[in-house]
Amino acid sequence: MIIKTNNFQDILNIAIEKNKRLYEVCEMLEADNSEISTEEVRDRVKHILDSMKSAIKEGLNSEEKSVSGLCGNDCAKLVKKYKDGKSLFSKTYQNVLKYSLATIEQNARMGKIAACPTAGSCGIVPSVIIAIAESLDANEEIQINSLITAGLIGKIISNKLALAGAVAGCQSECGVAAAMAAAGLVEMYNGTNEQIINAAALTLKNIMGLVCDPVAGLVEVPCVKRNAFMSIYAVTGAELAMADIKSVIPIDEIVDAMVQVGEMMSPKLKESSEAGLAATPSGIKITEELADKWNQ
Ligand code: SF4
Repeated sequence: MIIKTNNFQDILNIAIEKNKRLYEVCEMLEADNSEISTEEVRDRVKHILDSMKSAIKEGLNSEEKSVSGLCGNDCAKLVKKYKDGKSLFSKTYQNVLKYSLATIEQNARMGKIAACPTAGSCGIVPSVIIAIAESLDANEEIQINSLITAGLIGKIISNKLALAGAVAGCQSECGVAAAMAAAGLVEMYNGTNEQIINAAALTLKNIMGLVCDPVAGLVEVPCVKRNAFMSIYAVTGAELAMADIKSVIPIDEIVDAMVQVGEMMSPKLKESSEAGLAATPSGIKITEELADKWNQ
């Protein structure tokens, strides 16, 4: 995506001036910047959507563990649990959780996923958009509109904040993915542009400071289960925004604060695996066991 601004207010102003929805503004800017038609933009997004659906399908049908053996069959456990009909969640939210784990487990198995915005956070946007589209019977065009909206949020943030745990912690991976999913979900419900931005803002600001501390340097623990949690978290952001609950702090200031928090975060909490969960006694034990296994 080649949207150049790092300011949400700029995009909102264009939307107001042209009386367009945010996804329409995004399509228009992307088409101009890439010198392609808006139809081609949508075709590219459809390709990504199809990849997301394939990853979910493959993940739902696999119990294969990752190479490390640290993860790989949690989605299967959910599938089994839901067959028994026992759940705190409705069918829709069961699917959000399942699709999230299905996708991120595929990533851990080195399967094909759509990094959205990163591989470590790849389960969040697809699970929310696809599971809820299924429950609403939302057609493919609506799903594409949602995914473009989600992409717009991620792109504008990424123009100011590198989306990498190694740079700004997990707030910039799973945090941004949750904000993208929340915004995409509001689009799916035909919420206003302001509600879309507020969904992203509310979600982002409540995840600020999340560290990146993967055990043994693998995108598995805590990343896999974190995707499931963040998917449901994204739904909360959308729900609040669609009740016209607003973020007191505007989104552009939230992103600035995230940049500042990322800069202040210890390098040990930015994917080095030298602190946090990776440095717990259990984390260290797993790291040593894997090192022994791979050195044999
Ligand atoms: S903990 Fe680190 S590696 Fe894992 S998803 Fe978050 S940012 Fe990525």
